[in-house]
Amino acid sequence: MRSFTYVRAESVDHAVAEVAAEPAAAYLAGGTTQVDLMRDEVLQPVRLVDITRLPLRGIRDTGDSLVVGALTTMEELAAHEVVAGRLPLVREALLLGASPQLRHMATMGGNLLQRTRCRYFRDPSVACNKREPGTGCSAIDGVNRMHAVLGTSRHCIATHASDAAVALLALGASVRARGRAGQRVVPLTEFYRLPGSAPHLENVLEHGELLTHLEIPLLPRGARSGYLKVRDRASYEFALASVAVALVIDGGTIHEARLALGGVGTVPWRVPRAEELLRGASPDREVFAAAAEAALEGAVAQSANGFKIELGRRAVVRMLSTLSKES
Ligand code: SF4
Repeated sequence: MRSFTYVRAESVDHAVAEVAAEPAAAYLAGGTTQVDLMRDEVLQPVRLVDITRLPLRGIRDTGDSLVVGALTTMEELAAHEVVAGRLPLVREALLLGASPQLRHMATMGGNLLQRTRCRYFRDPSVACNKREPGTGCSAIDGVNRMHAVLGTSRHCIATHASDAAVALLALGASVRARGRAGQRVVPLTEFYRLPGSAPHLENVLEHGELLTHLEIPLLPRGARSGYLKVRDRASYEFALASVAVALVIDGGTIHEARLALGGVGTVPWRVPRAEELLRGASPDREVFAAAAEAALEGAVAQSANGFKIELGRRAVVRMLSTLSKES
């Protein structure tokens, strides 16, 4: 690990000033991914600004949404009574997203900002446009079974690893960020950037901008929701394909539908077209199949990950079928 300067932030403004002033500075929160990446010299910040003492931990229920401090741990959010009662898709995504030990350490801000699990990104001896822009993408002609089929470019095909982000995206959640220019609110639908020709830019945060809170709208009472994660093994594994769904079904009609995919996209992937097909329809197999088809529309396979397209469709149909049977 390269040497760096350690700074403990005394306030949000202090943290922002310390990172914004140094192009190679970074924030440190739970550190569950970042410290590994520093040990492997994938990340080499010269200044690390510790934000763990900032008052950004806790969950506030406003009645129609939850305002979650970015330092709230995954476990704290999963255990919150409103999440357990009104947002099962978020709870399930959190519980399936990491081991209990990691959930107690990892923060929600860090979860949304986590880096890809692409093996080439984590190996400084090989080319990777995300780690070192302009060097090439080793995955396109390499081992790409786990890689994305949606939102890819010829510069990067890495998947986004967060499960929670998929559930939060389906709910229409937003993040609050504080920078030198003040605070702003960014919907998650506009937060993540497709890789395009600049895969090292993963979200719309400016350097130094600090993600301070998440705003999670609650589902209407009576809504059904869930998160299905398909993976190679049952514990501590990343998704091959996942789907977060929320439905309001009444009188044999789907009145509201939210649907987002994980494990198949370069970013968490919401599918408005599938939601449109579901709204106003009766919950039957034919409609679910049409929504699944729409969900994977435009998917492009690499040499070893074509199976993800059908797997993603089947995950959508299964989640919709399961929720529609709930009473
Ligand atoms: Fe790097 Fe993206 Fe290619 Fe992986 S897929 S090697 S992260 S550029």
